[in-house]
Amino acid sequence: STATVAEHGITGWRFDNTYARLPEDLFTPTQPAKVRAPRIALLNHELADELGLDLRAISPDAAAALFAGQELPPGAGPIAQAYAGHQYGGFTMLGDGRAILLGEHRTPAGRLVDIQFKGSGRTRFSRGGDGRAALGPMLREYVISEAMSALGVPTTRSLAVVTTGEPVYRSGAQKGAVLTRVAASHIRVGTFEYAARRDPATLRALADYTIARHYPELVEAPQKYLAFFRAVSDRQAALVARWQHVGFVHGVMNTDNMAVSGETIDYGPCAFMNAYDPATVFSSIDSEGRYAYGNQPNIAQWNLARFAETLLTLIGPDPEAAVAAAMGVLNEFPARFEGYWLAGMRKKLGLQTDEGGDAELVQGLLDWMQKSRADFTNTFRDLSADGPPTGERYQDADFRAWYTRWQDRVGPSAAPARELMRSVNPAVIPRNHRVEEALAAAEQRDDLTVLNHLLSALKLPFEERDEFAAYRTPPVDECGYRTFCG
Ligand code: AMP
Ligand code: MG
Ligand code: MG
Repeated sequence: STATVAEHGITGWRFDNTYARLPEDLFTPTQPAKVRAPRIALLNHELADELGLDLRAISPDAAAALFAGQELPPGAGPIAQAYAGHQYGGFTMLGDGRAILLGEHRTPAGRLVDIQFKGSGRTRFSRGGDGRAALGPMLREYVISEAMSALGVPTTRSLAVVTTGEPVYRSGAQKGAVLTRVAASHIRVGTFEYAARRDPATLRALADYTIARHYPELVEAPQKYLAFFRAVSDRQAALVARWQHVGFVHGVMNTDNMAVSGETIDYGPCAFMNAYDPATVFSSIDSEGRYAYGNQPNIAQWNLARFAETLLTLIGPDPEAAVAAAMGVLNEFPARFEGYWLAGMRKKLGLQTDEGGDAELVQGLLDWMQKSRADFTNTFRDLSADGPPTGERYQDADFRAWYTRWQDRVGPSAAPARELMRSVNPAVIPRNHRVEEALAAAEQRDDLTVLNHLLSALKLPFEERDEFAAYRTPPVDECGYRTFCG
């Protein structure tokens, strides 16, 4: 079958199977399921170009067969990865229950990326699940991950969505689909939690592999595994700061959904905040707000504590010393996060220098936004325009006082400040009501034009283009908007 794909003309795959050379308890060879009638819903040509794949050269049928896992690319060695995780605080054995890793592809720029199918059938880790995915959630992952990428947030990407021609049963029958996900890797905090419960050799092999792949500068470092923990903590601090800067609520920050590479992974119940409120939660099952917007830094640190626990035996032979060393790094997390967060917030306010009162200045704006239920994205974008913002909301005395204080701080460099602001404060984000509208058209009417229009808008999020102006309006009332794990 590999020859068939080559004959169809797709060129550019350069697969290796480095993960599959790790100890075999970390994965299980698994073939994607056969499906009835695969059809392409979305193909990401720009991403394919980055990957060095020539998708334009193959027929729609060949592309559908490829991205439904019916004909594997040359060099692919499909496996399901084992992992565990803390879900809502409780430990569980997991694994790829509906995902299959084809292997690692080498891009023309020399980057090694995982190519993974999501929704391609049952695996050893499926437990009670059907191994399948519904079209709506796979389109949703495609839209939001691509939006995050355009916003400059580290993230997995989406290369294709195909419909399978088979139903999946969720709340009623829905169209089945397969998403092709591209990631720096799928190694999770949960992968380490799994390996640490196997044997020391497996854990060490995973750690050494991960360091070589994602933190090669540490391969020869003294206290390598402690340095690794520090480097992962640092990337997570930077990542969650970026989420906060754009109002992204991940929604299900279980340890199995935290990638050790520092990319955003698992677009299930995530959503973007409209009105600013740290308590914002969208997920239908997160009734206690564990994964609320304002709690994301705390949860990242909690997850890193679980990660540190898996590394203790590698950090050193003396358990007490290892715990003390790991705690030292863990306790640096709040300051690390704060550093990244404040640096980004300064940019959002056009501040090109660091001054002592900046954190209070930022907090003053956030407090006003919360009190007046101001839209997070649009407030920063309004402040990025030339001259004072004009809307009725901005006539408020508290806002005027804050504005004067901010202008004094910005000083005479208003023009470069605004230019900086317009490069970091998006005009367009994937607003929930717009995403839902696009998904409904695709699911109910087979109409992908709404979704493609939205994707075009999200490609250049820092530009105010007239044809996409409608995407900048927040919903009239979003109380009760809920997301579901797909
Ligand atoms: P998530 O909440 O998306 O992080 O998924 C948690 C776990 O459930 C992972 O191990 C998934 O592979 C598994 N899972 C989710 N949906 C399905 C499904 N339809 N069939 C089998 N396993 C699934
Ligand atoms: Mg997951
Ligand atoms: Mg998920």
